[in-house]
Amino acid sequence: MPENQAKASEVYVIDKKITCPVCECEFNARVPRDVRLRLVGSDTDLRPHYEPIDPMHYDVLICPYCGYAALSMNFNNMSERLADKIKSTITPNFTYKPYPPMYDATIAVERYKQALNVHDAKGGSAGERGYIYLKMGWMYRELEQPEKEQECMKTALKDLTKAAECPKRQWRIFWVKWSAASAMKTKRCDGLGKF
Ligand SMILES: [Zn+2]
Repeated sequence: MPENQAKASEVYVIDKKITCPVCECEFNARVPRDVRLRLVGSDTDLRPHYEPIDPMHYDVLICPYCGYAALSMNFNNMSERLADKIKSTITPNFTYKPYPPMYDATIAVERYKQALNVHDAKGGSAGERGYIYLKMGWMYRELEQPEKEQECMKTALKDLTKAAECPKRQWRIFWVKWSAASAMKTKRCDGLGKF
């Protein structure tokens, strides 16, 4: 581990004890220290920018024992039926991968992909899937991979539009805000349709 990264990790991130709702094992999840974060701006599609680290790099929690992964806000949403599904479809194909103390956009993409695998295995909501794609698209933007960013955004828009058709869903509010902001963009909206 590089010495400067180890020092920075002590300041900006902490290990938080989490109990996996699927296998019930306890593990340490790397999470940013909220008090250290400062919002310094946002893109026109509401992608927030924080300093000194990007909390979105840490937004997916992965259980190192069973491979269950989800956005931190949805991590504890679990039922016995879904847990059994994950144990039978995700766990047998999962190999634990250790990560360095500080995550970057490349690592974040890997972790968002694991969250997507789990989401598809358990048959989660369109809103949750769209939100994962949206965040993964923002990671590709940071990595300056515009084709992959656009692919993610197209899927995000499709899923979030579907989720917004249900008026009781929280995603509706987010979608309206995000799509309105996106519509003000010109170049990045090319090929994404009209809203
Ligand atoms: Zn687990």
